[in-house]
Amino acid sequence: MSTMRLEIVTPERKVYEQDVNMVVVKGVGGELGILPHHIPLVTPLKIAPVKAKIGNTDTFIAVHGGFMEVRKDKVVILAEAAELEADIDVSRARLAKERAERRLAQKQSDINAHRAEMALRRAVSRLELVEHRKE
Ligand code: ATP
Repeated sequence: MSTMRLEIVTPERKVYEQDVNMVVVKGVGGELGILPHHIPLVTPLKIAPVKAKIGNTDTFIAVHGGFMEVRKDKVVILAEAAELEADIDVSRARLAKERAERRLAQKQSDINAHRAEMALRRAVSRLELVEHRKE
């Protein structure tokens, strides 16, 4: 099975780097499955887990927006924040979710409501990723 290099990078660090057989992301236009030798492509990403497939093993990485660039033999994902499942602090994500929900329930300016909505999505995505593993 052919492979391509997948890199997931934030301003702080390289979160993930492996040779993978397939990458599945949620682009703004919908779900995208990328196989080796895919045509070059750049797309913004939604706040959602990215799936990296190596053989029969799927690894999920929480990626909070950003962009994916597909090159000839490499996929690079650049995001403000991203975490491996093992690095997700569940109680922190629960607290962030409650905080965002509280803020959304209050009357907020559009900009603050938007920030709370984004924070809620990040927290839900982190929690979903961890929950998914337990199924
Ligand atoms: P919080 O309000 O808890 O900071 P947030 O969604 O606002 O959550 P971000 O701005 O997305 O946090 O991320 C800031 C940094 O903290 C990033 O490096 C991110 O990877 C990390 N981070 C945020 N929440 C968690 C979490 N629940 N578990 C592990 N790392 C986290």
